[in-house]
Amino acid sequence: MSSTTAGMVCGHHHLYSALARGMPAPPAVPTRFGEILEQIWWRLDAALDLDMLRASARLGAVEALMCGTTAIVDHHESPSAIEGSLDVIAEACAEVGVRVVCAYGVTDRHGADGARRGLAENERFLRAGGRGMVGVHAAFTCTDATLEAAAGLARDLGVGVHVHVAEGPEDASAGERLERLAHDDWLLVHCVGLDRDLPGTIAHNPRSNMNNAVGYAAPARRANRVVLGTDGIGADMLEEVRLAYVAHRASDVTASPETAWSWLEAGWALVPEARDDVVTWSYDHVDSPWHVAFTPGIRAVRVVSGDGEVLLDDGRPTRVDLAEVRAHAAEQSARLHARL
Ligand SMILES: [Zn+2]
Repeated sequence: MSSTTAGMVCGHHHLYSALARGMPAPPAVPTRFGEILEQIWWRLDAALDLDMLRASARLGAVEALMCGTTAIVDHHESPSAIEGSLDVIAEACAEVGVRVVCAYGVTDRHGADGARRGLAENERFLRAGGRGMVGVHAAFTCTDATLEAAAGLARDLGVGVHVHVAEGPEDASAGERLERLAHDDWLLVHCVGLDRDLPGTIAHNPRSNMNNAVGYAAPARRANRVVLGTDGIGADMLEEVRLAYVAHRASDVTASPETAWSWLEAGWALVPEARDDVVTWSYDHVDSPWHVAFTPGIRAVRVVSGDGEVLLDDGRPTRVDLAEVRAHAAEQSARLHARL
């Protein structure tokens, strides 16, 4: 029994976070979203070097492929290793055979020089022909001048901006601050507390929103295109569909999984070539949202890229040695965790 679909698209990922699993607990239990950022993610990203990033991105890309996800829209930050970081991510994904749209998350939380270097990394990567967007961490960690510079760079290079928007109460003014800048080609991540409409695609990350206790984003209320992301918690998009459905259902008992499925399908607007990839699944009815919503554990068995290359065979990646990728990740995560 099996069925096939096109390749899945993860509309918002952080490949740098794959080595976070098992990291030492923060000094104090975070009690709100801002403390989760400060005590977990901003300690982790500051400790990353390019060797760790390479191991993290390879593991994340392999795990995506093993979930039938052939395209990742990534948002990256490694403030101690900015220059060249987007190349490391792009190369890791190319090695595995997964498509990636890169962005470096510009922020002023390490001062104006950190913001300048983040912008420069986006510009360097994009001008060299890399596939990507201009990344911005979030309005609340950027000055107005930095937001304007990022928007201007994106406009000049003909790409959109990939930015976290009103994920938690700390970023409640995002709508007001981004209103004059945002365009249809922007990727607006979360929009949980967004107080107005902004142009762009919304990336909905239901598991992450639950995990951070920021509330339900209720993307069905908005007129924007909505895609699904994982916010760095793997790249299993059928799992994210199930979570998107049940989160929607928790607020509206008439909700249908057709809606969450339409968000998954909208990902193909971000990376159209993923439509040409063919994923064979371990289950017979992956084309039915009602089946997927109530069938945990569906696995990708085989992935063939649009140009005919077998990238996953019998559930295992063909281009890289899975055991070696895992061993590399274990070695680099030990280094990372020791720094924390
Ligand atoms: Zn994110």
